[in-house]
Parts: sequence; structure tokens; C-alpha cells
Amino acid sequence: MRIWTVANQKGGVGKTTTAVSLGGLLALKRRRCVLVDLDPHGSLTAYFGYDPESVQPSIYDLFDAPGKAPPARELLHDTGVAGLKLIPASTALATLDRQLGSRQGMGLVVRRGLATLEDEFEFAFLDCAPMLGVLMVNALAACHHLLVPVQTEFLALKGLERMVRTLEMVQRSRSRPLPYTIVPTLFDRRTRASVESLTEIRRVYGERAWAGAIPVDTQFRDASRAGRPLTVMQPWSRGSIAYRKLLDTLDTGDQQAGPPEVGHG
Ligand code: ADP
Ligand code: MG
Repeated sequence: MRIWTVANQKGGVGKTTTAVSLGGLLALKRRRCVLVDLDPHGSLTAYFGYDPESVQPSIYDLFDAPGKAPPARELLHDTGVAGLKLIPASTALATLDRQLGSRQGMGLVVRRGLATLEDEFEFAFLDCAPMLGVLMVNALAACHHLLVPVQTEFLALKGLERMVRTLEMVQRSRSRPLPYTIVPTLFDRRTRASVESLTEIRRVYGERAWAGAIPVDTQFRDASRAGRPLTVMQPWSRGSIAYRKLLDTLDTGDQQAGPPEVGHG
């Protein structure tokens, strides 16, 4: 299983949208994918019509006392898209840091849970809350690659520095380094703030920044209202095309498999 974490210690930058969009694209390619909501606000969970106040069971149950946690397979929920499953978040996750304190081994709960789903899924996306805590630590310990969506706006780099510092801290406790890709989002070529910050992101982060950008596309809002990934609902919208280009640059293990998809002109 290839596992991506989507994280940034800033909210509203397109993390959840990125997880939903890429998951939808993989499902369209008939690749089995699971989306995991690690945000106590549960926006990914709500996206697919589940209520994070009441959904049962959720990723929260995985953190139950040793021996009491259900198998990860029992946490899977449907998304309405074939091949795409969801492990929802519960608002109870907000209490996790306080509850667990420094209980040993709590940083590897998600990693161990996902390991039991190896045979069922080829891909997983872990959608994080914009804060550093036991859940983000779990995500960074479980994943092979980190995606950092960054809104192209003034002071975009300020928030990003914090995320990169967190990442450097995590790197020291990992046996293998964690590669990351910065994904410029909400790009609007008509605004100076957007254009200038994209230039700045590329200047400072070079190869670490994806060469493209996800444009502002109002259809994302319609898709979230419909509870469907935009990439599935409107595969030829600007936003979907951009996410398809992003996915093409990520290692999905099938880069050499077959001819590229043919577009509708
Ligand atoms: P985060 O998970 O980082 O908090 P979201 O993915 O939830 O951010 O996005 C925040 C809001 O912006 C949502 O309402 C979402 O629909 C919208 N949004 C995200 N990406 C785009 C985009 N490329 N164009 C237009 N709206 C977007
Ligand atoms: Mg989110």
C-alpha cells in the first residue's frame, strides 16, 4: 500500500479537497483506495454524508485500550464511489491528546491499523487537522510521502515554514526520510498575490514544490455539496484536470503501465 499524508498547520488550504480529489481519481482508474479522516472536525467525514458527532465506528476506536480496538476493516465506510472507502473521524478525536498523554506506542496506531489493510487497498490518503498532535504524529509515522497544500496568497511561506520545521523534527525519529511535495492551491492567475506567492514558493522550495498549481474552481463547492469528488463528478473541470496532472507526478507504481488517458479535446 502506498500511503500519503496530506497536512499543513494551516486550515482552509485545500487539504481535504486534495485527499478527496486524488482518491476519486484513483478510484476512476479502478485502484482501490481508502481515505482516512484524522481531523476531529471531520470535514472529510462530513463530505461523504456522515456526521462526525455520531458516526460509528470511527478511527477513534483504533485508539482504544490494547486488545479492545476493532480490526481496521470494521472501520470502513462507503463513499458512494466504487473502490473508494472512508475511515471516518469522530469529534471525540479532539480529546485524544489529553487522554493518551504520553502512553507508549500511541504514535504507531494508524500505521499498525493500515498494515492490516494491505491486501484490500493499494492506496491510502491520511487527511490531517491543521495542528500538531498525536494524530499528525501518527500520520507522519504511517505514510511514505507527504503532500503539503499551500494556498497561493500573501504570507503563504510563513505558514509553510512551520510545517517544514515539524517535518524536520519528525525526520529525526524516522528510519527512512519522508519525502514531501508542496502543492500550490487556490491559484488565481488574475490576482497579484497568487502569482507572486507562486513564484516565491518555487524560488524558495525549488524541486520540493510541484511544478503545477491547483486553480480556484467554483465547481469544488458544488461537488462538496453533492458529496462526490469533483474528479469523479466533473472529470474535465479545471480543478479535476489539475489534480490529474498532480497525480501523474506522484509515484502510483503504474507510470509505465499503458498509454496515457485520452482527453475529450
Ligand atoms: P482544508 O482541508 O485545508 O481546511 P479544504 O479542502 O476543506 O481545506 O478547502 C477549504 C474550502 O475551500 C472548501 O470550501 C473547499 O471546497 C474550497 N476549496 C478547496 N480547494 C479549492 C479550489 N481549488 N478552488 C475553489 N475552492 C476550493
Ligand atoms: Mg480539512
